[in-house]
Amino acid sequence: MTKQKSIKFTFNPKIKCVNIQESKLVFPVGKVYCVGSNYEEHAQEMGVTVDKDQPFFFSKPAQAITQLASIPFPTQTNNLHHEVELVVFLGSECSNISPSEARQHIFGYGVGVDLTRRDLQEAAKGAGKPWDLSKGFDHSAPISKILRKEGLLLNEGSISLKVNGQKKQSGNLSNMIWKVDELISCLSKFITLKAGDIIFTGTPSGVGRLSINDKVVAEIENVGTLSFELIK
Ligand code: MN
Repeated sequence: MTKQKSIKFTFNPKIKCVNIQESKLVFPVGKVYCVGSNYEEHAQEMGVTVDKDQPFFFSKPAQAITQLASIPFPTQTNNLHHEVELVVFLGSECSNISPSEARQHIFGYGVGVDLTRRDLQEAAKGAGKPWDLSKGFDHSAPISKILRKEGLLLNEGSISLKVNGQKKQSGNLSNMIWKVDELISCLSKFITLKAGDIIFTGTPSGVGRLSINDKVVAEIENVGTLSFELIK
């Protein structure tokens, strides 16, 4: 390791990291992007029309990522929703690339839940205000361990979510409107993507309400399982 000039921080910087399956290495998180309305049936249940020309993105702060098994129920909401999503982890930098160049930047995949304060989101939508606090808050991005699969383009496999043993969401990655390579390419045209960046790829239909003491199990075929419970 090269010797670095010593930096005197006012306080220790916190780097959010995600654990990797069968590895002691951890993945340091950079930027976190999420795509909205990437499954037709979910767009329908939300009453929105999909813009087939262009996906839309929002972001969550890296500190929203959590791998806690017990997640404190968030403040300021009476309608917390689950959205199970395939999560893509990037392993290298890219900018303004085509879909065919995207796969080489993939580090791996995980199972994530885009927790949403639906009441705040609906209010923000109605008022034409930003979604930030409805989407990005403490523990709003639970995530499984990463399945390391450099260069693999994943475009099919079942995706599901159960609450207290009851199946609530069920779909297939093949129904994503914008595929993983298209999402990476599109984002890379707006910002430089770097190693450590993460993309939540949208949720299938069946999103719904969560309460304190609910146990959530989210699963994606050939990727993994994410389990957590909501605590007071
Ligand atoms: Mn989502």
